[in-house]
Amino acid sequence: MKFVNVIVDISSEQLDRVFLYRVPDALKKSLQIGMQVHIPFGVSNRQRKGYVVGFLDEANYPLEKIKEVKGIVKGSIKAESQLIALAAWMRENYGSTMNQALKTVLPVKQKTKQKQSRKLVFLLTKEEGEELLKTYQKKHYLAKARLLQALLLAGTLDGKKAEEECQVTSSVIQKMEQDGILRVETETVYRNPFQGHFQRRTKVLTLNQEQQAAVEGIWADYHKGIRKTYLLHGVTGSGKTEVYMELIARVIEKGQQAIVLIPEIALTFQTVMRFYERFGERVSVIHSRLSDGERYDQFMRAKDGGIDVIIGPRSALFTPFQKLGIIIIDEEHEGSYKSENVPRYHAREAAIYRAEICRASVVLGSATPSLESYYRAENGMYGYYKLTGRVKDAKMSDVSVVDLRKELKEGNRSIFSRKLYYAMKDRIESGEQIILFLNRRGLSGFVSCRSCGQAIRCPHCDVTLSLHNDGSLRCHYCGYEIMMPESCPSCGSRYISGFRAGTQQIEREVKRVFPKARVLRMDYDTTRTKESYEQILTAFGSREADVLVGTQMIVKGHDFKGVTLVGVLAADISLYANDYRAAERTFQLLTQAVGRAGRGELEGEAIIQTYMPEHYSIKAASRQDYQEFYKREILYRKLMGYPPVHSMLGIYLASALEELLEQQSQILATFILEQKPENLVLIGPSDAALSKKNDIYRKVIYLKHEEKQKLIWIKNKLEEKMEKETVWQKVYVQFDFDPLNSY
Ligand code: ADP
Ligand code: ZN
Ligand code: ZN
Repeated sequence: MKFVNVIVDISSEQLDRVFLYRVPDALKKSLQIGMQVHIPFGVSNRQRKGYVVGFLDEANYPLEKIKEVKGIVKGSIKAESQLIALAAWMRENYGSTMNQALKTVLPVKQKTKQKQSRKLVFLLTKEEGEELLKTYQKKHYLAKARLLQALLLAGTLDGKKAEEECQVTSSVIQKMEQDGILRVETETVYRNPFQGHFQRRTKVLTLNQEQQAAVEGIWADYHKGIRKTYLLHGVTGSGKTEVYMELIARVIEKGQQAIVLIPEIALTFQTVMRFYERFGERVSVIHSRLSDGERYDQFMRAKDGGIDVIIGPRSALFTPFQKLGIIIIDEEHEGSYKSENVPRYHAREAAIYRAEICRASVVLGSATPSLESYYRAENGMYGYYKLTGRVKDAKMSDVSVVDLRKELKEGNRSIFSRKLYYAMKDRIESGEQIILFLNRRGLSGFVSCRSCGQAIRCPHCDVTLSLHNDGSLRCHYCGYEIMMPESCPSCGSRYISGFRAGTQQIEREVKRVFPKARVLRMDYDTTRTKESYEQILTAFGSREADVLVGTQMIVKGHDFKGVTLVGVLAADISLYANDYRAAERTFQLLTQAVGRAGRGELEGEAIIQTYMPEHYSIKAASRQDYQEFYKREILYRKLMGYPPVHSMLGIYLASALEELLEQQSQILATFILEQKPENLVLIGPSDAALSKKNDIYRKVIYLKHEEKQKLIWIKNKLEEKMEKETVWQKVYVQFDFDPLNSY
């Protein structure tokens, strides 16, 4: 390593402005990525500080013009250095440019204005002021006179108020400042999005035995200086959050900070309030409704030591705490922890790496751990603690599975099996609440032809169009819209109809079969505005409806005391998804759904309707048996060489030019095979699941290997190759390690 790339100003949006410096021999051993260094900068060679973001062996720049690094900035490793090191790791492990990685991890100041409060401080004596006032009046400087009068009275004024009340412009203030009459003092005001009214909870719960065991076990390690990752396995309501909070309290006591990741959808008012009640104003929350400026403010508060705990989705991982002590990831199995933008990082993996750099512990919590985490816990890489029951003695619900094939054979063509129908009737009559759940994972009510079987699709995106209430068919990617045709566009048959399994159709069906029932629906369409999601939940929570129909959104994190029946309408739908995680997701969704019933005083019941009652994920979910599911699923992953047993790399290619795409994906595949990697499995190139989106063609290559490092090695080779060839400006390539969704 002879040269380094250094960024000087990390608060600017132009993170790609890197400067090249020579590394003196004395520093060659000690210099690392992320370190802060002293460098001579600009024509005057003024000494400045910068961060090392990359190493180079050669420089394509006249050697005599390259300046030398002066030294490493002394002192503790700063938050920024750690984040830059994390960015470098993400670049290497997920594939991206350093600039893309830096923009992901650094709180870049956006061009939004920071709210500032200004104070105008009067600098003259009373006599001087009165003298000046006479001059102003004589010269008819009326605006200046008004402000001066106010200053004479008050001494200091709020800038904004002064402008309004004295009717002066900011240029008047500026002129008077230049004349030495006043001084403007600014103070950055951090916008606190949760300036709530809440009571600090003074009494802390006594943890039960299992909670105690988890806390003390993790804390004993912490005390011994051991930092590792722990899996906390426990159903919803088993008291995981209390364990998190106790650990955080102890970490704070040691002068360190905590990051709590929660999927956005589970980031409810109740959850956040519990943290506020325990930790007061030293908690902050990040969520997608914050403006860029507000988000930046929260990060600055963290950096300046203004808070100890930050709660938020994926991106909260990059909070620049100076002394991070613990990272909690609740619902660690959630897909939303994986980024869909380059670099396609997984927040769980990135958190574990960040914790390694910062010497922090990581606690992963889930009722249905990801195969990844359970596999690692089983192999001793993670600590493991289990919470077996619900704290408040609430009973697990009674679950039954109904075979829809049998219903059909016996003449029931309704979307409700007889069992579900009678259960619903019973609940509606006795005033209890019902949740109907459709685990469609993005599939929407599509229109198909009963003669030729074709579904009506978007000509640009090659996805099925969704039928809406107003009779239109719409593409959810590009917005293409047509009216529902009279006959099939493929064969002309008039027997076309909507697939009767969208949430709208179910809502309509419930209303038809139970005219007295009050129905609410929760899906992508009804939750588009910011508040609608909370509104629906609140309405249902306060019993303004009897039935809530919805997609997976409704099964996450919410406690409805009045719900005694959960119906899963077609448990197999999520099994049809075309990726290797279909069974895992189905198990997770069904387990969560079943857990929604009976959260109150009354006993709950769950009915799972399915065309595949013999499938292990459905069987295991109906018994709430994670072990049973895991044993079968990990066998399948081993057999097929899928993650977490093997590593997988998705190479996604996209281009507007169909033939070029075809040709280049072949070239990439050949190039990969020429590297002669032992035991590598290459699948494809083939058309992506979504083979055309917005008139862009898409192809995929999948690689599998026992060792992730081998796949990273290939990715690096590909990046090197593509950097040299201009054709890759017309064919875009993205890397996706251990993909969660099909491309
Ligand atoms: P989870 O995070 O696993 O869903 P929570 O921590 O939210 O579980 O606990 C569920 C409920 O039980 C909460 O209302 C919580 O206040 C309560 N709870 C948790 N632990 C205890 C305890 N040791 N004693 C009494 N109540 C508890
Ligand atoms: Zn047809
Ligand atoms: Zn489209």
